[in-house]
Amino acid sequence: MLILILNHRQLMINHLINDRKDMVKRFIVIGNPIKHSKSPQIHQVFAQQVDMKIAYHRQFCPNDKEAFMAVVDAFFHGGGNGANVTVPFKQTAYEMCRQLGGVTEHAHVAGAVNTLYQQADILLGDNTDGQGLVNHLMSLGWSLDGIKVAIIGAGGATRGVLLPLLEAGVRHITIANRTVAKAEQLITDFLIQGQTLIENRHREDLQALFDSSRLDFCAISELEGQFDLVINATSIGLTDEQLPLSSGLKTGKAYDMMYGKPLMFLHHFAQQGAETSDGFGMLIHQAALSFQIWTNKTLDMATLESELLSSLS
Ligand code: NDP
Repeated sequence: MLILILNHRQLMINHLINDRKDMVKRFIVIGNPIKHSKSPQIHQVFAQQVDMKIAYHRQFCPNDKEAFMAVVDAFFHGGGNGANVTVPFKQTAYEMCRQLGGVTEHAHVAGAVNTLYQQADILLGDNTDGQGLVNHLMSLGWSLDGIKVAIIGAGGATRGVLLPLLEAGVRHITIANRTVAKAEQLITDFLIQGQTLIENRHREDLQALFDSSRLDFCAISELEGQFDLVINATSIGLTDEQLPLSSGLKTGKAYDMMYGKPLMFLHHFAQQGAETSDGFGMLIHQAALSFQIWTNKTLDMATLESELLSSLS
């Protein structure tokens, strides 16, 4: 393990020495696997728009907590400016920030961190996935105020989007999952995290968001009735399987967090006349929020979205 960590420190230091020659701001995305990540291209397009010079590298890390912590430590001690965290390290990043620094409310409730940065040498973690989804939905002109939403899937992505959706005005969310007990547990955890937030940070104003009557759960095949928006937050799109959707499930809008391939889920609802979108815009918007946290620069998202959609999707 020691050799592994030393190798990672050396690797990171090489990145930093090379980039420092130009005094650029330095960012990484840490994951395993990481080769497929589009974050470097996306962030370079952001940087061009605000006339900044950045270096943004993909950083592979062995699937090991200590290795992850060593990579993060070496990166920031070497003068790195910000890091994105992707599968499978979002929970590890959350634990690391809880242990050594702090987390934002969205990261606390999600139990996951996708954006790392430092303030006064203190490591901080945020989670921009959920707000990225909300910002994309708004950019599509899909109003969230007072609407009834169903989310299929009860993994990390669902956990991350619950609070931002409720903050944006969603009235009720039903979580449907293959393993029903996980949907129930997710709601229980969300409400507990909400209570600790309210008590520890004196956020009594958030009480209405963590109201159990606004959430319920069921099996996917039992999800029925009329919704304003149905979101697919399962990873089924990676397989040839299909969700067991009931013919009694109706929606005006359907959103799939997956992207980059034809999605049966969207096809199903498009045939019923629903408006549809895949999750590429969510990817762009969560990245933009990270970029804004790190650089304090405001991006013109309308221009960027169309540019990135045509060049990368
Ligand atoms: P997790 O692994 O945490 O959760 C996976 C979920 O998918 C679980 O609810 C699981 O159900 C369900 N699932 C997997 N296979 C099947 C199947 N064959 N049938 C029915 N349900 C199934 O993944 P995440 O929550 O992190 O991610 C979910 C999706 O969202 C992924 O496709 C990911 O790529 C995408 N995503 C997109 C983002 C973007 O920016 N566009 C950001 C984050 C995620 P069970 O509990 O029963 O196992």
